[in-house]
Amino acid sequence: MDSKQPPFPIVNGQYKMPAEPVVRIGIVLAQDAKHEMQFSVPGDGYRISAGSKSAALEKGVVHTISSHGDALSIDHATLPGQHASLRLSPPAGTKAAKAGDGTHVRKIVAGRGFHWQKNIDQTLTDVLEFFSRNGAIVMVNEIPIETYLTGVITGEMSGECPIEFMKAQAIAARSWLLGQPVAPHPSQPYLWCNDDCCQRYQGTGGWSQRAIDAIAQCRGEVLITETNKYCDARYSKSTGTVSEDAEHVWGIAIEGLVARLDAPKGSVAEKFFPVTEANLRDYILGDWTRNNDVYCSPTVVPEETITKYLGRVDETGQYFRWEKKLSQADLRESLTTRGGLTDLATVKSLNPIARGRSGRIRELDVVYANQKGETRTHRINSEYKIRAALSTKFLFSSCFIVSPDLAADGALKGVTLNGAGWGHGAGLCQIGGLGRALKGQRYDEILLHYYSNVRLERIYS
Ligand SMILES: [Zn+2]
Repeated sequence: MDSKQPPFPIVNGQYKMPAEPVVRIGIVLAQDAKHEMQFSVPGDGYRISAGSKSAALEKGVVHTISSHGDALSIDHATLPGQHASLRLSPPAGTKAAKAGDGTHVRKIVAGRGFHWQKNIDQTLTDVLEFFSRNGAIVMVNEIPIETYLTGVITGEMSGECPIEFMKAQAIAARSWLLGQPVAPHPSQPYLWCNDDCCQRYQGTGGWSQRAIDAIAQCRGEVLITETNKYCDARYSKSTGTVSEDAEHVWGIAIEGLVARLDAPKGSVAEKFFPVTEANLRDYILGDWTRNNDVYCSPTVVPEETITKYLGRVDETGQYFRWEKKLSQADLRESLTTRGGLTDLATVKSLNPIARGRSGRIRELDVVYANQKGETRTHRINSEYKIRAALSTKFLFSSCFIVSPDLAADGALKGVTLNGAGWGHGAGLCQIGGLGRALKGQRYDEILLHYYSNVRLERIYS
């Protein structure tokens, strides 16, 4: 595949599709460093094939695939020898219908690279393909997009969310996938991965009847921009009240993704649009944060009920307002290992230089003493890098204020960060969308708030 081409190019302005597309999702990646994988199929008629060779798989038997350099083997009795790739296919016409349907695959990485990374068993429907890259297994799920999306909406959030929110989430996820200007993983045998890098997808395990109904009701619906393209409908967990402009997050404007206030007309929060240096402290710490009508606030979506709405690997946390204390040693460790500061001896101060309209910092200066005792300034120039650099566990968001903790001699002992929101904050706010659905809004009202100047269209039936 040409890495400069979008995966779903729009030719001559024609964005409608003749049929539901099939997508290839990376489930096990080379970086997961798996040398052996085990699976079992749920019924008769499943086959494994390598080129022209093919064999039937017995229901319930645990099969092992092993990697050897760039080749693979599956237990000798099934298909002897080594193969460039292996393709596991269900019998024709097999369609997952409920939670847990599909091939059972053991120990798949979830939360890749984040502090909640773990291995979980997953059930995956449709075709699975296996490759080996320098001894590491790569497993790809080839799957119709609607089936995939059922797994996304129950992976990003839970199958217990209100149906109107699920439809909004599905349409955002579908539009995002189709709307990528270039494939996120162009040199791999898959175009998208199964984790937060792309969209969280964990097979059929979290499916609910409500999720299946939501997908059926919004089948083929996507957000189309003013220039007749699929909207690159990015989303995040919580804006914290004001969403962010795409250009302040990724340095480029994206059609549809502009800052909005996530509250009804006349809300107390209106004075915070936009968030500025002058209103920032009140925005993050003011009394108004404890009782308000902002859709992503704990007043609308109480934190004690939120766990039932979140995806299975989310940590429960303070999504709306949060606090994090970092000692001098914490700062040194994270700025050295994740912030690229190789000559750091002591951090002197953290100084926000530029913020977006949601208050997210997009440029942060770290003033420090290097190992020769010289004072230096290092600028971190994106919200993503700031979140990575200030925590070994990835900071919730870059919308925060810094309160230094100084020793008697003026040395920095540590900092307290008080912040708002979780994630980049552009596009759909998942907690806010949930709050809107709980307040009775329809999926189209939810989407047309978070994405500006877009329309909904069904592009295949
Ligand atoms: Zn990815």
